[in-house]
Amino acid sequence: MDTIEGIDPTAAPSGDGCAECLASEDGWWVALRRCAQCGHIGCCDSSPGQHATAHFHETGHPLMRSFEPGQDWWWDYRTEQTLASGPDLAPPTARSASQTSPGPADRLPDNWRSLIVH
Ligand SMILES: [Zn+2]
Ligand SMILES: [Zn+2]
Repeated sequence: MDTIEGIDPTAAPSGDGCAECLASEDGWWVALRRCAQCGHIGCCDSSPGQHATAHFHETGHPLMRSFEPGQDWWWDYRTEQTLASGPDLAPPTARSASQTSPGPADRLPDNWRSLIVH
């Protein structure tokens, strides 16, 4: 198999939610992103934590794929370009459909709409 820099198709997702948000007391997110190199699950830039982008800055892992059900687009942090597709990654390829977006439902503050980053 060809190896593509920044992609490890065998790396399983770190979990079913943003790793940093779940490790905190009250973290929540709008949508989830998966690091294509190590499987880190982080939250998107509309989320208060923006942990997916933080993961790129911390590690230099350059590619992420949406971890939302039904989405298969990629993002290249180096070029800030969307990629329409990429190689298959280790399952699961999305968070469980029973979760909400934003989520997790039991952590969303009443005013979450005003906390979304635009
Ligand atoms: Zn997060
Ligand atoms: Zn990573």
